[in-house]
Formats: sequence, structure tokens, C-alpha cells
Amino acid sequence: MTERNLVLLGPPGAGKGTQAQRLKDDFDLPYYATGNILREAVEEESELGREAKEYMDRGDLVPDELICKVIADRIDSPEAEDGFLLDGFPRTIGQAEMLETAVDERGRSLTAALLIEAPDEEVIRRLSGRRTCVKAGHVYHLEFDPPKNEGVCDQDGSRLVQRDDDKPETVRKRLDVYHEQTEPLIEWYEDRGLLRRFDGMRTPDEVHSRIRATLATLALEAEI
Ligand SMILES: [Zn+2]
Repeated sequence: MTERNLVLLGPPGAGKGTQAQRLKDDFDLPYYATGNILREAVEEESELGREAKEYMDRGDLVPDELICKVIADRIDSPEAEDGFLLDGFPRTIGQAEMLETAVDERGRSLTAALLIEAPDEEVIRRLSGRRTCVKAGHVYHLEFDPPKNEGVCDQDGSRLVQRDDDKPETVRKRLDVYHEQTEPLIEWYEDRGLLRRFDGMRTPDEVHSRIRATLATLALEAEI
């Protein structure tokens, strides 16, 4: 059995979440998005979760070492035996080094870092057009997936708003952080021969089938 130990990279709005969901369904892989797994650890009140909560309650960033421990803990769980999908970690080279060590220590290795690329202007267009319903968080897009009635959720009739995260000025800030901190990772993974690039301007179906093809090739190479 070939493991699929995958890291997803790319700017916000490039479609990582969509692709992660599909890969999760295809291969039955657990999907670890940093924010979610920290929240889960806190809810489970595990020792690491309690430690993380102290930082979160103070409004401080959870230190890299701790995030990496939480992730390593998940990687050790039976659900991740055949692989995992990481999103949102690593975000910096320091974190990538930490992850590499943790994976190595387990006698495992990363299969690939999947980079889904999209230009800044496209990211801003995609994210700033998003509207979310206040009641249940149903998501629409003014341009690509508008509600039947302007400003109203089709499913529950509640009001649609633009989340702070999707406001153009916030999106620009997130992109700045991405370019500054995360982009150096692309080269880092490229140097290790792990980087695979995908064009996030293509449709989600096309991106998905390209990722599938790439993973199939990697699996074949691993068997040789
Ligand atoms: Zn709704």
C-alpha cells in the first residue's frame, strides 16, 4: 500500500479546500486544516489541546512547536495510516523543517507538496464576491453562484453578508502574508523534488483530474 502524505500549498481562494474535499473522498484520507485541528484538540481537552487553549485564550499565536505536535499526534492516529492531507501547515520554512523532522522520525516521508496557483487579482475577485448567510453559513458568489434574490439566502431566507475575511482589504493583507512567508516554501519543496504545480485558474474538475493523474504517477514511481 502506497502512502499518500500530502501538503497543500497555495494562496487563499485558489481552491485548496475544494480539492482537499475531493481527495479526501477519493482516497479516504483525513484532512487536517490547521485551524480545525487546533479547535478539535481544544474541544477534546487533550493535553496538547489544553496547552493550545492557553495561548488562544490570551489572544496569542499558538507556537509552531505546539502546532506541529498536534499534527504529529494526528499523523500517528490509525485514520492517517495510509496518508493525510495537510492544509495551512506548514506556512513557513521553519514549520516545514519541523514537519519534515516529525515525519522522518516516524519512518515516513512526504509524498508531495501540491501547489495550486492563482494570480492575486483572481483571488481578490473570487473572495471579495463571496457572500455568506448569517444563519447557517451557506456560501454564494455574486458572479459565479448568485442567490435567486439579491442579499437573501435561497435555503433559509436569512441575510447574506460579506465576511471580514472576504473584504478586499483583508484579502490583500492575507495575500501579502502569503507572498512573504509561504511563497519561499515553494522553492524549499522544489529543492526536495516534492513540489507539484497546478493551475488554479482551471475548473475544479480539471484541477482535480490533474492532481489524480499526478498522484497516480507518484504511486507508480514509488512501487518501482
Ligand atoms: Zn443560509
